[in-house]
Amino acid sequence: MPAHHLPFDAVHPSPYREALARGHARLRFAPALEREFQRDQHRANLAWLRWVLWIGIATYGAFIAIDLLTVPLHASRWTAAIRLFLIVPVLVAALLVSHRPARRPWLTPAVFMAAVVTGCGTVGIVVLTLALGAPVPYEGTLFLPIVIHLLVGLPWRWALVANLVPLGMFLVLVPMVQPDPLVQTYQLSFMVLANIIGACGGYAMEHRARTTFLTAGMLSELAERDGLTGIHNRRSFNEHLQRVWQQAARDGTCVALALIDVDHFKQFNDRHGHADGDAALRGVARAVAGHAKRPLDLASRYGGEEFALVWYQPEAGRLSAMADALRRDIAQLELQGADGPTGTITASVGVALLRPRNAPRHTDLLRAADIALYQAKHGGRDRVVVLSHPDLEQLSFPETASA
Ligand code: GH3
Ligand code: MG
Ligand code: MG
Repeated sequence: MPAHHLPFDAVHPSPYREALARGHARLRFAPALEREFQRDQHRANLAWLRWVLWIGIATYGAFIAIDLLTVPLHASRWTAAIRLFLIVPVLVAALLVSHRPARRPWLTPAVFMAAVVTGCGTVGIVVLTLALGAPVPYEGTLFLPIVIHLLVGLPWRWALVANLVPLGMFLVLVPMVQPDPLVQTYQLSFMVLANIIGACGGYAMEHRARTTFLTAGMLSELAERDGLTGIHNRRSFNEHLQRVWQQAARDGTCVALALIDVDHFKQFNDRHGHADGDAALRGVARAVAGHAKRPLDLASRYGGEEFALVWYQPEAGRLSAMADALRRDIAQLELQGADGPTGTITASVGVALLRPRNAPRHTDLLRAADIALYQAKHGGRDRVVVLSHPDLEQLSFPETASA
């Protein structure tokens, strides 16, 4: 099947669809997509992370009092010191970073540091109190991998390392201070098990978050693309026109809109069939898209055999030449049907140039471009008509604008 007969999905490249097809068992996208994913995750996790940090600060703070009340002083002054001067400060630091949008790149390292220090501090408390003969229950350390893997939104690899450090410390130090071999075996096994469960859960969660991210990206891409040609659809065009119209109002500048209508396309379809007509429309769409060159320009399929092209802040003196270059590109398309060349087609182009200052609504621009297109059609087709303020003021709007 030649490329211009392939369905939209096959010809329109989408980073999301490609990444989904490639799979992400290693939890890594291509660099640009990876950055977008991380940004998205930060946004999604931020409120959640702050809650966890607050709860962490409150819990460790409360245990200072509990330790001092229940554990003999020669041990509790150490545990209180670790909680107060080590753990609570790193949690507060992470919380402060989370509230500074400018420090966003530091958020993952800050949460990672908080996780490592909290983990090692908690293991330190267990080991120290064991060594001092006034052991506090060790079960709290089992929560660490669960919280670090599942609740703070760290990327899986970071969470894994943040857990392996306190786990290593636990595996090395507990055997030195735990006198009961049976208890020791249980403590070590449960700790390893909690880490395995946390790591598996964290992996599954991040894998699913990546799949969801790609699917959502793909859907929003599909929602703004035209199914036949792959360029923007009318919904996307409407949103964009409104947006640039407001932007132009703020910038005090102008916007041009070109409406492009293929000439006698009904005849083309009648002669060559609908499939070849579709292929021709894809060719026109490519030509139109080639003329949207700046970031705020947008090429779209307006409907049927009509296309719309937004030019933001064009040079008024060059507008005619720009539109004529597009008209020529379309007329020079070498169209290929299923059974070989299908000849050429032409298009009429109506262009309007307005400033929001002179016409308050973006629909005024649309109506003006429609009038220009109407004139191009009635002037004989395969031509460009450009209208701009103030000549538009003398015009009345016809009942049916396009031919
Ligand atoms: P004019 O020069 O006045 O614009 O004539 P025209 O024949 O192009 O205009 P008209 O509005 O009468 O016909 C438009 C044609 O475009 C009719 C329709 O079959 C064709 N068309 C619209 N959408 C599609 C499409 O998605 N695929 C194909 N193959 N044809 C389409
Ligand atoms: Mg038409
Ligand atoms: Mg037409």
